Amino acid sequence: MTFDVSLDNLNCLFFPLETKLNIVDTPDSPSLETLCDYLSSRADQWRTTNDWPREALAACATAGVYRWFMPQSAGGLGWNDVDQTRGYLRLAAADLTTTFIITQFIGACRRIGGSENRQVADRWLPRLISGDAFATVGISHLTTSRRHLGKPVLSAITVDQSPVRYRLTGVAPWVTGGAHADVVVLAATMPDGRELLAAVPTDLPGVECGGGADLVALSASCTDQVALHDVEITAEHLIAGPVNEVMKSGVGAGTGGLQTSTLAVGLARAAVNYLKSEAVKRTDLCLVAETMQHQADELQQRLLLAASGQVCDASEIRGDANRFVMRTTQAAMTAAKGAGYVQGHPVGRWCREALFFLVWSCPQPVASAQMCELAGIAV
Ligand SMILES: Cc1cc2nc3c(=O)[nH]c(=O)nc-3n(C[C@H](O)[C@H](O)[C@H](O)COP(=O)(O)OP(=O)(O)OC[C@H]3O[C@@H](n4cnc5c(N)ncnc54)[C@H](O)[C@@H]3O)c2cc1C
Repeated sequence: MTFDVSLDNLNCLFFPLETKLNIVDTPDSPSLETLCDYLSSRADQWRTTNDWPREALAACATAGVYRWFMPQSAGGLGWNDVDQTRGYLRLAAADLTTTFIITQFIGACRRIGGSENRQVADRWLPRLISGDAFATVGISHLTTSRRHLGKPVLSAITVDQSPVRYRLTGVAPWVTGGAHADVVVLAATMPDGRELLAAVPTDLPGVECGGGADLVALSASCTDQVALHDVEITAEHLIAGPVNEVMKSGVGAGTGGLQTSTLAVGLARAAVNYLKSEAVKRTDLCLVAETMQHQADELQQRLLLAASGQVCDASEIRGDANRFVMRTTQAAMTAAKGAGYVQGHPVGRWCREALFFLVWSCPQPVASAQMCELAGIAV
């Protein structure tokens, strides 16, 4: 299947700006710098749930960002995992809110594109890749959210004993950009414990997407719960399942991967770059800035090696990335002094954004190790 994505058309529709964006076809392309300069210059505008970063997302569509992650056979650029990681590192340093939204969008596209049910892929992929439709995911209740409750928060039952008709009831507690989505990839649990994944159109009767919760940071990602009031889905919506452990099935599968660490290291890089720029005029900062730059390079190298398939402990990288983003953003705040504590200074935003990595899809062993460290307990 190929998709004709006319970049010139997208440029006119979405990006009537002074900066003309060219396609970013490799992570070394100078166009990536132009895109990131644009994103970073606007990142502070995305503050509240009323500030969905439409233009930033459109700029990314124009620059072909969504195509990095898609195979050439589907009209994408087919970047390998290392190049995707390099791309995400740059984007996250420029604008974490927009980059985070993209990860959820791409997560949804991957699940839809990787489904054995071609009906679902054919229906959604062309519009998703061209930027004409937006998709997101609500799956964390199978991995890191509400696991202690002992009963599923989103359940599926068969309708009239049909193997292709299901009724969904409950909530997906965390869905980024649900109110802006045309389709949400949702996970639900059957009474016998099997799980299914479905691409649920947001205009189906009974789907209620929250407009966005006020968060410590990233509020403009419009993350909220999606409630399902007896929503009926059929074979055309099914991505996978019902099976045991549906998250381990199919293309685009896998949780606790390197993506969260990548965004943390990207944000840390923004803080390190700030320290470096301050150190130019403040020699007392040179040693700290250089040391942290060296550490950022090392951590990035480990991430890229892991992305290239080298055996690695993803949890260890995640723990290190979490620690590093906290250290670097707080070092940047210390360097920026009171000026950094005033709303509008990017350093304050980075410090708040860094806290996100303590909670976003954080595997329990990483969270436990972090708690012991904070408590001064040696493990
Ligand atoms: C900004 C943001 C965006 C997100 N976007 C998405 C998204 O697009 N898609 C997606 O699928 N997920 C998303 N997530 C979810 C995320 O990946 C995690 O799953 C989520 O942060 C886990 O937090 P929780 O409050 O749901 O955890 P929970 O484990 O449900 O904890 C909630 C509360 O329950 C209590 N509690 C926890 N554990 C126990 C226990 N063992 N015993 C008793 N009480 C307990 C505590 O009081 C705790 O505060 C997002 C999260 C955030 C913060």
